Amino acid sequence: MVGRVSRLRRWLGRIGVRARGRVPRDRLRSTSPNDVERVRRQYQESEQRFRALLESLPKVAVQGYDRDRRVIYWNEASTTLYGYTADEASGRLLEDLIIPDEMREGMIEAHRAWVEEGKEIPAEEIELEHHSGERVPVFSHHVMLGEHTDSPLMFCVDVDLSDQKRAHRDLAFVTHFDTLTHLPNRNAFETELEGALESCLRRHAGLALIYLDVDRFSEINDALGYEQGDRLLVELARRLGQEQRLTDLISRVSTDEFVLAFPGVNQREDVHRLIGKVQQALRRPFAVANGERRISAALGVSLFPENGLSARELIRNADVAKNRAKLDGPGGLQFFQQHHHDELIREQRMVEQLERAIEHRELSLHYQPQVSVASGRIENLEALLRWQPRDSSAFVSPGEFIPLAERSGLIHRLGDWVMEEACRQQAAWRRAGFTESRVDINLSGRQMLRSDTLARFEACLARHGLTPRDVGIELTENVLIEAEPQVLEDLRRLYHRGVRIAIDDFGTGYSSLSYLKHFPVTALKVDRTFMRDAARQPEDRAIMEGAIFIGHRLGLEVVAEGVESAEQLDLIREMHCDLAQGYFFYHPMPAPDIQVLLSDTAGWSASPS
Ligand code: C2E
Ligand code: MG
Ligand code: MG
Repeated sequence: MVGRVSRLRRWLGRIGVRARGRVPRDRLRSTSPNDVERVRRQYQESEQRFRALLESLPKVAVQGYDRDRRVIYWNEASTTLYGYTADEASGRLLEDLIIPDEMREGMIEAHRAWVEEGKEIPAEEIELEHHSGERVPVFSHHVMLGEHTDSPLMFCVDVDLSDQKRAHRDLAFVTHFDTLTHLPNRNAFETELEGALESCLRRHAGLALIYLDVDRFSEINDALGYEQGDRLLVELARRLGQEQRLTDLISRVSTDEFVLAFPGVNQREDVHRLIGKVQQALRRPFAVANGERRISAALGVSLFPENGLSARELIRNADVAKNRAKLDGPGGLQFFQQHHHDELIREQRMVEQLERAIEHRELSLHYQPQVSVASGRIENLEALLRWQPRDSSAFVSPGEFIPLAERSGLIHRLGDWVMEEACRQQAAWRRAGFTESRVDINLSGRQMLRSDTLARFEACLARHGLTPRDVGIELTENVLIEAEPQVLEDLRRLYHRGVRIAIDDFGTGYSSLSYLKHFPVTALKVDRTFMRDAARQPEDRAIMEGAIFIGHRLGLEVVAEGVESAEQLDLIREMHCDLAQGYFFYHPMPAPDIQVLLSDTAGWSASPS
């Protein structure tokens, strides 16, 4: 905008009006009357051009004032900017029109000094007054025409800065605040928290930080739409803010995550009281378009100074605690503990190692036979992934690295490897004449979220020349319940092609059995915890019996997992369970051992392990 003003000055020069309008009087004095007339005419013409120019600038407000600062000129843009028409303004004093009270004296003096002493008023950014009394930010440039004559005219060229100021304010807002909830954003919060920590340090006071993460917020968004999701977040921010004292801090740090800081909190009871308040804010249902919605959130707590001295460290540790709380299920609460952090570091290292496990050939499959309870024959082999890092003599348990691979997304690569390896091995066994038993692979939840997983599975079978009966899959109940319609459609297609589909760990996930009839499955694998306790606990025994009964009524094959003793075998035999898998028969073992076993057609009745 300064550029615009200097451009205006250049135009003035081009059309014959010298900057600050100094009339060349010396030249006038030393020339003839004709010349004087010619120059005067030229001057009048140039002044007309000047006015025409001023009128044509819609964005630049130009006002002219006489020696007494009375308005002699007022263009359209001035009317727009200050709210007075040219008629209203004409003849009135500058200081009575647009000069705010506090600038009045200074302006009169500056004008006098220019007229009498030639002291120019510099261009500047100021706020003048609109007709309505509102302030108008402008960049104001001043031009004096006829400075040394009896009637010096001051022209003010004002450029409206409202848009720029607004943009500036908006920018300042978005760089510090969250536009949805109007709470400080993470950066602003961190800065505020640093200040609060310094003050706590001086006062030897503590501080509690609570990290809040709304459970399953994406489901709320999916079910109700973003607008309702936003509405809920705004309401939550309002409720959380309501509980705050002046010194407390609160921020929305990401979509559904808030951080709250409570300076001056030293006692455990006080921390628990604060947590209670936050939980209270969550407890009441939230109004949404078609009624009400209840929500819960995971809370992670870190304390100053025990869990960190800097804002960043405290926020990170509360975040670590919150992630722990998430594992406890909806509404979880955890205080930060150093070993959480250590575990996180260990997990990160493990993920890095796992990333290289395939190329380092550290993965292998072990196979665990499932035997017919009635005949003892080996029917199927469950492929179980094994990982032995090359610098370690021990296997890492899949119970440990599979969840990690799921969280980090590595499961897709591992899953592809398992599929490929299981198919390769099964094809090799088929070629070697072992045509009886099927191999089953485990597919995890995250793998099934990818819509092409089952298509890849089919492609893998085809690539190895296998039929749908050669390799089956195991899925947990939750995977089926949470599956997208497209995935269920694909499963149905596989089912009709003859692929065996088993529900793994049955009984641990979903509590209703009625869903079973909706899914394309061929077998139930009753979770081993029921088997473990069935001999002693009548409830577990009843559940096993119930599962076997219902499975059979639905035409499904039932497998008992974790059979470790003859007693357990007797139990499931009485219950007419179809298949058994467990250490009583075989541990999972590498492919060459399986091959030896398969060569011995006698099965487990001759050689239980
Ligand atoms: P799962 O699919 O339920 O596999 C059965 C687990 O029970 C295996 O543990 C097996 O070694 C163990 N097991 C078998 N018989 C007995 C017994 O008599 N007593 C006891 N206490 N345990 C028995 P593993 O191999 O440690 O695998 C654990 C879990 O890791 C598996 O549970 C499965 O959920 C997952 N997993 C293993 N391999 C893969 C894989 O290739 N892909 C995916 N996505 N998950 C896998
Ligand atoms: Mg399994
Ligand atoms: Mg299982």
